[in-house]
Amino acid sequence: MKSKVTISEDSAESDYLSALPSIDELLNSEVGRHIAAEAGSRKAVEIAREACSQLRHEIRSGRFSIEMPSDANRERIFKDLTIERMAELEARHVGGELRPVINATGVLLHTNLGRAPLSRAAASYMSDLSKAYCNLEFDLRSGKRGLRGESAESAICELTGAEASIIVNNCAAAAILVLTALAAGREVVISRGELVEIGGDFRIPDVLAASGANIREVGTTNRTKLTDYERAIGQDTALILRVHPSNYRMIGFTEVPKLRELAEAAHRNGLVLMEDAGSGMLTDLSEYGLDSEPLIGRSLEEGADIVIFSGDKLLGGPQAGIIAGRSHLIDTVRKHPLYRAVRASKLIYGALEATLRSYRLGTQLEDIPVLRMLAEERASVALRSGEFVDELRRRTTLEVVLLDGDSVVGGGCAPELRLPTSLIAISSKRGSAEEIDFRLRQFDPPVVARIQDDKVILDLRTVEECDQALLMDILANLEP
Ligand SMILES: *Cc1c(COP(=O)(O)O)cnc(C)c1O
Repeated sequence: MKSKVTISEDSAESDYLSALPSIDELLNSEVGRHIAAEAGSRKAVEIAREACSQLRHEIRSGRFSIEMPSDANRERIFKDLTIERMAELEARHVGGELRPVINATGVLLHTNLGRAPLSRAAASYMSDLSKAYCNLEFDLRSGKRGLRGESAESAICELTGAEASIIVNNCAAAAILVLTALAAGREVVISRGELVEIGGDFRIPDVLAASGANIREVGTTNRTKLTDYERAIGQDTALILRVHPSNYRMIGFTEVPKLRELAEAAHRNGLVLMEDAGSGMLTDLSEYGLDSEPLIGRSLEEGADIVIFSGDKLLGGPQAGIIAGRSHLIDTVRKHPLYRAVRASKLIYGALEATLRSYRLGTQLEDIPVLRMLAEERASVALRSGEFVDELRRRTTLEVVLLDGDSVVGGGCAPELRLPTSLIAISSKRGSAEEIDFRLRQFDPPVVARIQDDKVILDLRTVEECDQALLMDILANLEP
């Protein structure tokens, strides 16, 4: 037999490597059999391989160069370690490169980190639905075909006062679908102040073009009057569009008509008033500083015929686009062939339904992570951060300072809003801020922080109490 020789292979390392258990041994262990029963044998093999490969990697990187007991014991120890690792991997549902991360940035709706984390109820409901068949389009009473997403849609109606609702993939899809179904080939009147870009690839003029509607710009960037809209209305006009500028604010010499006035003008002329509200605020959050975000129920009450909004911004649910409004318009939208291409999946209806249930019970501020983070008082974040810093000082040699600072909502919502918070600034004699920041991202779960004045900054507002211990362990292992 040809023996494989590699340069780095010293004898301890190769002894350790050969002491790793076989995949069969792992699958026959109690943990291996448990994973196979829970997640299937293919998943069990995957996890056993991943556990071995992690340990192999750690052996190669010298983690086991310390004294190891000899021979027979060593195999048992490595087997136990590998099995333990399998249990950890299964518990964390590591399935691929996409993985849970700890968001220590203080940005509540971090679009690059997947926006809103789901409530526990929504996550477990979604997981239950994913493992089984479900009555997605099946009426359990009649035993016949039922309506897709009916319960989530009626929850939207109950919470917003809308006559009807329809749920699609995201708010961008909602915009294109509604504009295509109601205004393709006709004119859409919109203020020049609302031809905005919402994060990179969602630009209102492009969305209108893609839906085949002709754009009729009125007013100026900073001021648009009701008469500007009224003068533009003609034979070809289908719809007046109001867009919430979400991630940008205009101050100073500005003017736009009230939504109620715009609705009256639209209805006088037999037109539809559509609002793209963006973030989907379902209950009044003005006491937390969110007074510039449209409240969906209020927009409908003030006369908007159709309002569209995201499921994963302030609403705090899964990625979805929600269309709420008059039933004859929703019917037209539902019948358009494009709806089939952008409709939501059973998992999304489930997650949304569970999220909306918290609103119906009035427990949204406790249940929904984003709202919980928004509502947490400065004093509470300060208390958690103070205790965290004390423990960090006890357990590590990191230099740690507690600072005053701000968290932000993010996700293109309320750009002017600052939520006072406590920031934990970390530095080390043994590495630069960039090095610490890099190392934090290599843990599992990775920690995402930011750098300011050559220090790594952690904001616990977006790290919930359940993740705090995990973050502490990671920081305790930060310095080599
Ligand atoms: C965020 C936003 C969108 C896009 O929503 P997605 O759910 O990300 O597709 C559209 N319009 C407005 C006003 C927004 O704020």
